[in-house]
Amino acid sequence: ALKPATPPTTPNPHSSLSPATASGDRMNATFVTLARNEDLWEIIKSIRSVEDRFNRNYNYDWVFLNDKEFSDEFKRTTTAIVSGKTKYGLIPKEHWSFPDFIDQDRAAKVREEMKEAQIIYGDSISYRHMCRYESGFFFRHKLLLDYEWYWRVEPSVSFHCDISYDPFKFMADKKKTYSFTISLHEYEATIPTLWSTVKNFTKTHPQYVSEDNSMAWISDDNGETYNNCHFWSNFEIGNLNWLRSKPYLDFFEALDQAGGFFYERWGDAPVHSIAAALFLKKDQIHFFNDIAYTHVPFTHCPTGEQFRLDHKCTCQSEDNFDWKGYSCTDKYYEVMDMERPVGYEREQD
Ligand code: GDP
Ligand code: MN
Repeated sequence: ALKPATPPTTPNPHSSLSPATASGDRMNATFVTLARNEDLWEIIKSIRSVEDRFNRNYNYDWVFLNDKEFSDEFKRTTTAIVSGKTKYGLIPKEHWSFPDFIDQDRAAKVREEMKEAQIIYGDSISYRHMCRYESGFFFRHKLLLDYEWYWRVEPSVSFHCDISYDPFKFMADKKKTYSFTISLHEYEATIPTLWSTVKNFTKTHPQYVSEDNSMAWISDDNGETYNNCHFWSNFEIGNLNWLRSKPYLDFFEALDQAGGFFYERWGDAPVHSIAAALFLKKDQIHFFNDIAYTHVPFTHCPTGEQFRLDHKCTCQSEDNFDWKGYSCTDKYYEVMDMERPVGYEREQD
């Protein structure tokens, strides 16, 4: 049963905090975490952070997914900390294994080469299953079918400022579909043929490409090549119905058939990002500037001291990644024609 949202405690006269949404404004939404049993004590930290900064006032559900059965310890420990309902799902075997069209020898050879080249997770089979699952399957898990909105949370992440409104409701009210806090360049070596596969797909399905798309953010030459910019998908708030829509599913199917999850090491971040940039309208994507967030090694800490004071932030300006060279957020501001916040230049190096 849902607990009523608790009102904010002592009002801070200097703060721009709005009160918790009334219970009638609850979105059909859940947190979702893919994790292994051994991730327990790192996901616990992430959950504590989400609860302290947001969910203790909103009590949204939390769905945990795993390719193996969750242990009782995992279940009772996470259930004790999540303020909403918790649900635990086993991933069906067919969503976490090699499709039969994959040439095992070729895939093994690639892992060997990537290990030689010291590409991160280059020799890992499970990491590839994980990326493919997050790209094409998590939103179809039985436990997620009842929900419209998701917020992805990984082990070892933290949130640094109070989140004093409901981001799910914001997404719905503003007609947003996908969102991010950190963007950056992908390692080219993990996705050598991703862009040509995308181009083949858009050539055969031109009707899926949105007129007001964000191609300019992911390509510097009008779609000829990929500039490797992507939204970092360890944080996402998004609409599950979009991922379950025919354009997205056809897109995933085409990528999967091309074999790049196994013959290369395609990540779910560039996959989601390219789909969002091409199939959504620009204004369906949202940058959550006010959600301060760290997944090692990068932090998004909102530019502007007054905001950080008002929201009791624990991150510092110099750690903000937004305006650094390897980030794609500056380019996002440019493409979206957004005004950069006062003082951003000081955070550039
Ligand atoms: P990184 O952020 O790219 O370094 O990758 P992570 O190790 O954080 O993995 C991404 C997400 O997938 C995290 O939520 C992990 O808990 C989860 N994950 C990674 N590998 C596995 C796996 O083999 N099984 C399960 N159940 N979850 C996994
Ligand atoms: Mn991670």
